[in-house]
Amino acid sequence: SSACEKEARPVTEQKVIKEYPLTEDPSGETIRIGFSMDTLLEERWLRDRDLFKQSVEELGAEVEILAANGDDALQIAQAETLINQGVDLLVLVPHNAEATAAIVHKAHLAGIKVIAYDRLVKNADIDLYISFDNEKVGELQAEAMTRLVPEGNYVYIGGAITDNNAHLFKKGVFNILKPYIKRGDIQVVYDQWTQDWTPVNALNNMEAALKANNNQIDAVIAANDATAGGVIEALSRKGLAGKIPVAGQDAELAAVQRITKGTQTMTVYKPIQQLTKEAARLAVQLARDEETKAFQTINNGKVDVPSVLLSPIAVDQTNLSETVIKDEYHLYEDIYK
Ligand code: BGC
Repeated sequence: SSACEKEARPVTEQKVIKEYPLTEDPSGETIRIGFSMDTLLEERWLRDRDLFKQSVEELGAEVEILAANGDDALQIAQAETLINQGVDLLVLVPHNAEATAAIVHKAHLAGIKVIAYDRLVKNADIDLYISFDNEKVGELQAEAMTRLVPEGNYVYIGGAITDNNAHLFKKGVFNILKPYIKRGDIQVVYDQWTQDWTPVNALNNMEAALKANNNQIDAVIAANDATAGGVIEALSRKGLAGKIPVAGQDAELAAVQRITKGTQTMTVYKPIQQLTKEAARLAVQLARDEETKAFQTINNGKVDVPSVLLSPIAVDQTNLSETVIKDEYHLYEDIYK
């Protein structure tokens, strides 16, 4: 019984969110948003789905949600379905940063604006991008790990090469590791992407890393909690779980439980309730052709995309209660059961 099966929890705090006032819709017609998701096979995306729906409905709009579970052709077909249904705006979580450019093109031909949600679409003139500061995610991981393990053999278990975020997470990690590597204090002895972010692929990578280094590994940074789970499974098969620090990301329930047990060192918490609330507001505003505030821009290879980046938070045993527990991202009794 993971948190995935539970109802999305109410939002308790929205401190980071700036208020962009929504005007009354002059036409009185209900805005319909299409939400094209990569996958629902991970805990966080179920939360994104439920909270995005809730946020859109709180604004008096409607949302149609389809998920492709990692299939590029299916995601394109589903997005076409949403476009043909005449949604007013498309919100897209791309499985493949490049392949989904075709969706943006088709939506624009139909006069439908597109928001890239959490993951950037490359080489397409998307209208807006909303996410967390993903480079910062990697920096938070590496800062926590280097504080604990300033010298030794590091393993980096990356995300899916097809996901732009995976590249940003890795960039952030190496921003911090670089001076340590230069001084010769840290050696990165294994560095691999994890196809489709799956725990089993991460487990296989970690087994290869252990074998190649005769188990002489001092720290592991995994791009998210799903891959960290695979890493920790590989370590536990060698009796090494809890002996080698492991970093992850997402504050998944299983990862937070591992943190309390000491088999995972830290995670990066991204308050999804902030992301969905902000994304819903921007989606409705853009669908109504209202002006949205000036944001920073991020170049995606084709255009400078107006972007909103929220702040990720490093979480370990010392601050669980003032972060994920305080926000009711997970309930105390679920974590400690
Ligand atoms: C998201 C992470 C997630 C990963 C795998 C990334 O794009 O930012 O939160 O763990 O995809 O789904």
